[in-house]
Amino acid sequence: MSDLFLSSDFTTEPYWTEGLPPLHLGAASPPPAADVVIIGGGFAGLSAAITLARGGRYVLVLEAASIGAGAAARAAGSLGHVPKASLTDLAAAYGTDTAHEVYREARAARTFVEQFIRDNRIDCDLRVGSRFVAAHSPRAFERQKAALPALRDTLGEVELVERSQVHTVIESDAFHGGVRIDNSATLQPALFLRALARLAIAAGAVIVEGTRALDVRRTGRGFEVLAEDGAFRANDVILATNADTGIGTVGFQSLRRRLIPMPAYALVTEELGEDVVRRILPVGGPVSDTYKIIHYIAPCMDGRRFVVSSRAGREDRNLQTKAQRMFQYFADRFPGLAGVKVSHCWKGTFAVTADWIPHLGVEDGVRYILGCCGTGIPMSTFLGFQAASRILDPRHPRSVFERPLPPLPFMGAGSLFLPLAVRAYDLRDRLLG
Ligand SMILES: Cc1cc2nc3c(=O)[nH]c(=O)nc-3n(C[C@H](O)[C@H](O)[C@H](O)COP(=O)(O)OP(=O)(O)OC[C@H]3O[C@@H](n4cnc5c(N)ncnc54)[C@H](O)[C@@H]3O)c2cc1C
Repeated sequence: MSDLFLSSDFTTEPYWTEGLPPLHLGAASPPPAADVVIIGGGFAGLSAAITLARGGRYVLVLEAASIGAGAAARAAGSLGHVPKASLTDLAAAYGTDTAHEVYREARAARTFVEQFIRDNRIDCDLRVGSRFVAAHSPRAFERQKAALPALRDTLGEVELVERSQVHTVIESDAFHGGVRIDNSATLQPALFLRALARLAIAAGAVIVEGTRALDVRRTGRGFEVLAEDGAFRANDVILATNADTGIGTVGFQSLRRRLIPMPAYALVTEELGEDVVRRILPVGGPVSDTYKIIHYIAPCMDGRRFVVSSRAGREDRNLQTKAQRMFQYFADRFPGLAGVKVSHCWKGTFAVTADWIPHLGVEDGVRYILGCCGTGIPMSTFLGFQAASRILDPRHPRSVFERPLPPLPFMGAGSLFLPLAVRAYDLRDRLLG
């Protein structure tokens, strides 16, 4: 495959962290004990740290790598409010009321994050507006139509866009209509994550990088967290390790067997200018399609570039090939993208659960926030707050996501399950049209 879409300075490093100064965390050596030890310094762990430290608890965050090295700063930036699980699937698994509650709380999660950003004056290119979900086939459009009342009930402002009106939202003739959701947001994930780290430290939390927690043991009065560099005592422990859960560790294996690590990819185009971006996506916000493993494109960085995320879970030879294939999908459907080059393409991994929703649970006394299913910007941040609030006050209202991680259909076969699942979704999309 030629390098048709790659710029001459193409790189496989995430665009979001390029040129950012080092984050000074200030922790010289970790304390031997804390009220709460949090394992994992992503959105979930840092959000929990802020809430607990502001609530007067002494908090220690152990991060195996460095803040920003994990999935959080590799996300595409969608601050969405639609769970990956369909209402129908959730209703079949948990009943209609719970399914609607999941959708309502996902919406509350996004509102929570948006409000948090405003209250704390976080500068992370937060862009609030509309998004468009484009039907990839006539049957997909019929399904969108049928689901409209339920979507309006759970998502609020949702408008059906007929095929003849598609040009009001996207400069493309390739789709069969779609729905416009006038309640959507995106942000720059690395800036958001770093702001969370700074707020946690300002509230009194200690963050230690390069320290992998290996296991947690119960002691008479609490817990002992065993890490590469020593042991830490705590009254409470929160596990927020997402796709890396149980990797390179002795403990957490039973949770690991209930998560599928999903490789995911994002790319950013070269700078195009606001006018070009606005002409190609008049909707002004993210556009995704109706495939189960979606193709996503959105304006980013003050609307001067595009960010794309797609082909999650699918193997390609290398990130150059991956970038070509990801961008080809949109170049084939948006004539305005002719000649546009990709400057960055990178990989990360997030965790998927059997029911495609995140879970906040307790195992052997350890609280966990796991399985963000690619919606971690709103969900991990919100569930971090929830887990922390439940520690501060057990009477804090329970989240609908507070339920144990369900087992995977093929017991303990996360790595086998993924390619099968991706192929099954491809087949389902082809059969359903
Ligand atoms: C390419 C890509 C695109 C994405 N796009 C979006 C998007 O547009 N919107 C969205 O909402 N989500 C998106 N996601 C998903 C999002 O990145 C994750 O949902 C989010 O990062 C989850 O946050 P988290 O805190 O739960 O986990 P993570 O961000 O993965 O953080 C977990 C942290 O735990 C650390 N850790 C792991 N094991 C240990 C251990 N034993 N000891 C100590 N530390 C440990 C890791 O180093 C990591 O820093 C995307 C992900 C990828 C890869």
